[in-house]
Amino acid sequence: MALYDYDIGIIGGGAAGLTIASGAAQLGAKTLLIEKEPQLGGDCLHFGCVPSKTLIRSAYLYHQFKQAERFGLPVVDLPPVDFARIAKRIQDVIGQIQRHDSAERFCRLGAKVEFGTVFFRNSHRVDLNGHSVSAKTWVVTTGSSAAVPPIPGLDRVDFLTNRDLFSLERLPASMIILGAGPIGIEMAQAFSRLGTTVSVVGRSEQILSKEDRDMADALQARLAAEGVTFYLGAKIEAVSQVGSKKCVRLRLNPDAAVDLTAETLLVALGRTPNVNGLWLEAAGVDVGPTGIAVDPRLRTSRKHIFAAGDVNGGYLFTHAAGYEGGIVVSNAVFHLPRKVDYTWLPWCTYTDPELASIGMNARRAEAAGLDPIVLSEPFAANDRALVEGEGEGRIKLILDKREKPLGVQILGPRAGDLIAAWVATLNGGVKLSTLASAVHPYPTLAEINKRVTGNLFSPKIFSATVQKGLKLFFNLKGRACTPPDGECRQ
Ligand SMILES: Cc1cc2nc3c(=O)[nH]c(=O)nc-3n(C[C@H](O)[C@H](O)[C@H](O)COP(=O)(O)OP(=O)(O)OC[C@H]3O[C@@H](n4cnc5c(N)ncnc54)[C@H](O)[C@@H]3O)c2cc1C
Repeated sequence: MALYDYDIGIIGGGAAGLTIASGAAQLGAKTLLIEKEPQLGGDCLHFGCVPSKTLIRSAYLYHQFKQAERFGLPVVDLPPVDFARIAKRIQDVIGQIQRHDSAERFCRLGAKVEFGTVFFRNSHRVDLNGHSVSAKTWVVTTGSSAAVPPIPGLDRVDFLTNRDLFSLERLPASMIILGAGPIGIEMAQAFSRLGTTVSVVGRSEQILSKEDRDMADALQARLAAEGVTFYLGAKIEAVSQVGSKKCVRLRLNPDAAVDLTAETLLVALGRTPNVNGLWLEAAGVDVGPTGIAVDPRLRTSRKHIFAAGDVNGGYLFTHAAGYEGGIVVSNAVFHLPRKVDYTWLPWCTYTDPELASIGMNARRAEAAGLDPIVLSEPFAANDRALVEGEGEGRIKLILDKREKPLGVQILGPRAGDLIAAWVATLNGGVKLSTLASAVHPYPTLAEINKRVTGNLFSPKIFSATVQKGLKLFFNLKGRACTPPDGECRQ
């Protein structure tokens, strides 16, 4: 008789859990996937990436309609937004994607899906809906939830998090967003564009505090120009309900207290790992301050229990959760020791313009003492961006002293898609000269990737030394025209 009921048991059916369940089952492991919600898909599908990007799309179009004149079109007199219809579209899109994540599909792949409540009895055995179930290997992929810090008064106020935001019945007239990270900033622009008066409160002096200051500041300026108000470097002192309104008391400096009032309050102050109720202590699994503690192979303090995705508190992205799911499958099913390597993990904040990154930004490179070379190219010099009326932003290529790439940041239209060329280039170890000499279709936004790389080679190719050599060997006659004031002389 088998020692355990399953080869592998996975707790949490989101990005990480689904990747592992699909991989393990298709490799022939007897697989159990347990989910507490009535549907699979996790935060990304139901309360995160998919609804937020669907909302952003509606907000983008509404904003574009209002900009009709900029494109030589008649001015459009738009009625206000009916948020219930946007919320319905959000649910429709979720429904389309949900089909890929159905329990039936996973059953066809060979994994058993169970819905309900689960907690550990010991390191191999859980209690699932009152029944005891064992597995040789367990993986915790329970994700994260909006962190709700102990701000005085917050517990007595009706606030929103990402769980309620996408099913509002009507558009709020005003909103205070606590948090200037990716979620807060994306939602600030989207709601502002739809017609909500938005104020953003951030602890740091900079929005998107992980990004380079110049890129974050440029994005902030764009949102401010669209009407979002920022209170940065702020300490939130208290939150209260005043009639039907929410009031937030801030301190911007020792002498200045500011009271903000709005119809709604969105809390986007980071994430907390979903570990409550799992009885991880019964399994001997240690939890650190940001999530379940794991080693580079994603093993917890019990080597046959893994933790992947948001719950381990690492990189809180869907693609990171999927990547980590693959690492778990390698280690737990193939028994091939594989460690995580986040060197070239990209990410993107889906504002307009988008801000995408891969590798080190200039600030991280400087902090690491790498004395980076930063090459830059503006979208204002990209023909397609101008055609589309999207000439704001730029790309930054960060190199070390030997001109080896450390990272890329793009603030501009479709930056999340443009970074894909760098995902391939950097992961594949493609030479920058290959990217610079390759032919790109014209006119495309992607030409900016070639142009920024060209900025490394152009000064060398078109240098005075090369000119001198060519003159000497081939008797070139030099300039045919010189501007009167000599300004363009190189
Ligand atoms: C508003 C918002 C926008 C975002 N946008 C993006 C984006 O554009 N791109 C991006 O890459 N990332 C984005 N993210 C982050 C992304 O959603 C997460 O990184 C991703 O969902 C993590 O996957 P996961 O598998 O770790 O967790 P999840 O996808 O959340 O899955 C965890 C699953 O575990 C279940 N679960 C929890 N506790 C238990 C339990 N006790 N028992 C059983 N099941 C349990 C949950 O119900 C859930 O289904 C966004 C997040 C938010 C909040």
